[in-house]
Amino acid sequence: MLRALVQAAYVLFFALVGFEFHAFYAQIVSGGAVTAHRPPAVEGFLPIGALMSLKYWILTGDYDRIHPAGLAILVAALVSAFLARKVLCSWVCPIGGISRALEWAAKKTLWRRRKEEVLLPAWADRALTSLKYLLLAFFLYAVALKMDTAAILAFRQGAYNHAADAKMLLFFTGMSAATAATLAVLVLLSFAVKNFWCRYLCPYGALLGLVSWMSPQRVVRDGAACIDCRACTRACPVEIRVHGKSSVRTPECTGCMSCVGACPVEGCLTVGRRGKAGWSPYLLPLVGLGTIFLVWGIARLTGHWHSQVPLDRLTDAYREARELVHP
Ligand code: SF4
Ligand code: SF4
Repeated sequence: MLRALVQAAYVLFFALVGFEFHAFYAQIVSGGAVTAHRPPAVEGFLPIGALMSLKYWILTGDYDRIHPAGLAILVAALVSAFLARKVLCSWVCPIGGISRALEWAAKKTLWRRRKEEVLLPAWADRALTSLKYLLLAFFLYAVALKMDTAAILAFRQGAYNHAADAKMLLFFTGMSAATAATLAVLVLLSFAVKNFWCRYLCPYGALLGLVSWMSPQRVVRDGAACIDCRACTRACPVEIRVHGKSSVRTPECTGCMSCVGACPVEGCLTVGRRGKAGWSPYLLPLVGLGTIFLVWGIARLTGHWHSQVPLDRLTDAYREARELVHP
């Protein structure tokens, strides 16, 4: 319940970010007075650019001043994934929140007569899961291996990068029939299979999963206390067979704690390393969310949150982007 409330709050927050950014974009391209503000959080939806900025920052020490919030959000996501698994996916990401709402709607309508949860066969789950890792491998190859610092700098200073947020907005506001059909298919698939996008297609989640794999924190099952009721597996949003594992190490675990909350045997599911004292399950989302807020606070206080691009440069880039989409 708490997770649903936090997710709903974030969906609302990102909807407000979208409205605010739309107002800013509309004012800036119309040429009138600009009273709206550009919300830096919009850069959270530019993860490929943030990946390039991260590589450039590591290699040169130069922090991205064009989309600084995007880089701060990526750093926060990576650190929180290591400390507390994929809390960003299960508590913060609006796509995760929408996926969860679709799962709930499907249970209340299509599958309301279903007595038992039907899980995808393990082979199908594995095959589909590989898709997001293939997408991640492609992006890592293109950014981490193929682009050197000169290429990243050229991209960073170009009009395309300056208007990347506007292009994303236009992608949704000027949606083509093909894009609308693709989104409709994804919604239908999310009705049929829990969290379809997050589990099988999101490369950002795949990256966080690989980092979370190295995390010392994981769900641990006490086999001696377990009564094999399988409530944990039924509650898991990514269909991990928790009831059959002694510890959940897989990068697919989002750290949502639904399994721990559903287990009727106190102390049977805990968080930590097998045989070692672990954290309270409530601490995991607290640490994950706390890390995200901490990085945001540091970025704001040190001037690494707001973009330094002058308004006239942004105006030219946004107008260019609009011309491309609506000539
Ligand atoms: S194993 Fe537990 S913590 Fe991990 S995703 Fe499934 S329900 Fe959430
Ligand atoms: S919910 Fe708890 S008791 Fe039931 S199968 Fe899972 S770990 Fe065992």
